[in-house]
Amino acid sequence: MPLIFNICLALLFSSVLNANIQLIKKENSDSNTTLLVIGGIHGNEPGGYFAASILATHYTVTSKNLWIIPNLNKESIMANKRGIHGDMNRKFSHIKKDDKDREIIKEVKKIILSKKVSLVLNLHDGHGFYRKQNQGSIFNPNAWGQTCVIDQCQLQQKQLFGDLNTIAETVKNNINKKLLKKHHSFNVKNTNTKYEDEAMQLSLTYFAVTNDKPAFAIETSKNLSSLSQKVFYQLLAIEEYMKIMGISYKRDFALNAAQITNIIKNYGTLVINHNILLNLNDIKNSLSYIPIKSKSNEFYFSHPLGDVKRKKGRYLIYIWE
Ligand SMILES: [Zn+2]
Repeated sequence: MPLIFNICLALLFSSVLNANIQLIKKENSDSNTTLLVIGGIHGNEPGGYFAASILATHYTVTSKNLWIIPNLNKESIMANKRGIHGDMNRKFSHIKKDDKDREIIKEVKKIILSKKVSLVLNLHDGHGFYRKQNQGSIFNPNAWGQTCVIDQCQLQQKQLFGDLNTIAETVKNNINKKLLKKHHSFNVKNTNTKYEDEAMQLSLTYFAVTNDKPAFAIETSKNLSSLSQKVFYQLLAIEEYMKIMGISYKRDFALNAAQITNIIKNYGTLVINHNILLNLNDIKNSLSYIPIKSKSNEFYFSHPLGDVKRKKGRYLIYIWE
């Protein structure tokens, strides 16, 4: 007989406690060229991980390959904190043996170094709006928002997509043709990591470029007025990188803030143990108790950010608001 557990709905972010990485592959047999998109390295930057999640669920790739990690730092996403075990993006040069992020870092490094991966994007929401000249506390050279970030102009080894500066400039110019507001304009930010930025030497993108993998960060601004605007610019940028790489794609919606808002509001479905289907959009109205086993339950969310956490004999379903 199945036991009855109370399923409690919490309008929070998703998480699981094990360290494995969710890697979604959209592949074609025509080429090995592969874009790797990584969302959620920082748990309080939802523009990045919602964009990666929408990329996983609303895009079809019709030539070449797209790999997506929608929620690298799952536990921090649930807590809505930058990093509950410290800054995950400062652990790629060396990491302590007892660091709780150690397994994730090891796994994601292996994915980045996969032979197939041709270009890596690390998605962030950063403070303010980057400007080369100081124009106040929000618009200045120390801000990160609305930038294509590179660690250096070129990879050491001459190779495909190794001209980081030219690629970032092209992406930036094309984004700037489609701005929602004039002050949302993008810039290229070169951190010149090797010589000028010790902190960035510990980052994911620097790990990639020092291993001859072209890598960029996309930073939308935390100061944009809505999550859908952040997701809009993330997706705009990702699409530009796909165009440069010759990756053909289709999406099932029009790329604008209104449609993105509707997509974000859709929590999707949850299937428990292959037989109970819950529509998470009206779960509050539909039930409070469902039959479930004492252990080895299987939960399948249609949404990459959906998750279940067991706490004191109850299962908590984490979705967002
Ligand atoms: Zn970040």
